[in-house]
Amino acid sequence: ERVEYIEYIDQIIDRFSLNLKEGLSLKRVLPKDRCYVWMDSDKLTQVLDNIISNAIKYSPEGGEINVTVNIERHHILTKVSDEGVGIPQENLEKVFDRFYRVDKARTRQLGGTGLGLAIAKELIEAHDGKIWAESREGKGTTISFSLPLMRKKRGRSS
Ligand code: ATP
Ligand code: MG
Repeated sequence: ERVEYIEYIDQIIDRFSLNLKEGLSLKRVLPKDRCYVWMDSDKLTQVLDNIISNAIKYSPEGGEINVTVNIERHHILTKVSDEGVGIPQENLEKVFDRFYRVDKARTRQLGGTGLGLAIAKELIEAHDGKIWAESREGKGTTISFSLPLMRKKRGRSS
């Protein structure tokens, strides 16, 4: 279905803001323009839920989480960054593998199966998008994904 992405993501962030744990802040920087993406919004919600839940789960007390959306020429770029524990450089690609979890001991107590990002990757790729991770250990993590933008309708002459 055709979805206006900015309003869509605004509502997702609202939902997380409602029951955010004390001491964490969740901020958003969204473009003013509308933009349309052809997507399965239930599946995209699954992707965003996992990425934002991870950011919350791995954030320290007092941490700030930022969701930023940028409209590019052919894509819309969404970034979720946190100030958490981070992911070691050599594991940045592995976190998208099924059942992979960075530190078994550390993550065991935080719960989860290690499937969230693997599913996110499958769903984003099914939408012809890309997903990737950047991180500095001890400083934080940014998970980014791009989705193709729907072309604006044009007249025959243009
Ligand atoms: P699930 O999502 O299935 O509940 P999970 O959160 O452990 O479990 P993924 O979402 O796939 O699994 O993430 C895989 C691993 O990547 C995590 O176990 C964690 O080690 C690491 N990771 C993911 N997001 C972050 C983050 N924002 N900061 C630090 N580490 C992260
Ligand atoms: Mg997860």
